[in-house]
Amino acid sequence: MSAVQALKAARDAGVRIDVDGDALTLDADTAPDAAVLDLLSRHKVEVILLLRTGSDGWSGEDWRAFYDERAGIAEFNGGLPRDQAEVRAFACCITEWLNRNPVRSPPGRCLGCGGSEHAHDAVLPFGTEPIGHAWLHSRCWDAWHAGRNAEAVAALSTFGISMRTSP
Ligand SMILES: [Zn+2]
Repeated sequence: MSAVQALKAARDAGVRIDVDGDALTLDADTAPDAAVLDLLSRHKVEVILLLRTGSDGWSGEDWRAFYDERAGIAEFNGGLPRDQAEVRAFACCITEWLNRNPVRSPPGRCLGCGGSEHAHDAVLPFGTEPIGHAWLHSRCWDAWHAGRNAEAVAALSTFGISMRTSP
């Protein structure tokens, strides 16, 4: 069972769950089942990640809602089969994560290799306003961007969002 399922089971059992620092606070009208509490405590770290608002302004549940919404739009409005809709939704999450967790760097120095600008080796701005620019040599962009994508994939996987089907 995943943290998402543990959270759902607890809510279905009437437990109200909140996050206070690194702890979960629970509230219920009647004493919840020991099995539900056991599930929550086993998935505590992941449940906190789902509920806590991250530095990008969204909690794990916000990310999951965004994913579900995008998948639904692609499937029902876009007419895609479910697996392709999920691929599309995952790509939307990556883009959104990169936008919400921008990297900016000052001009004149490459964020990829740390090198500076030379006559035939320009350091170029990547990214869009209002997010801001990361400055890189064009040859350094691929590796840097792949690293950023990997960061997004890792962050999303902590919320149980992953690429279930290859594109
Ligand atoms: Zn470079």
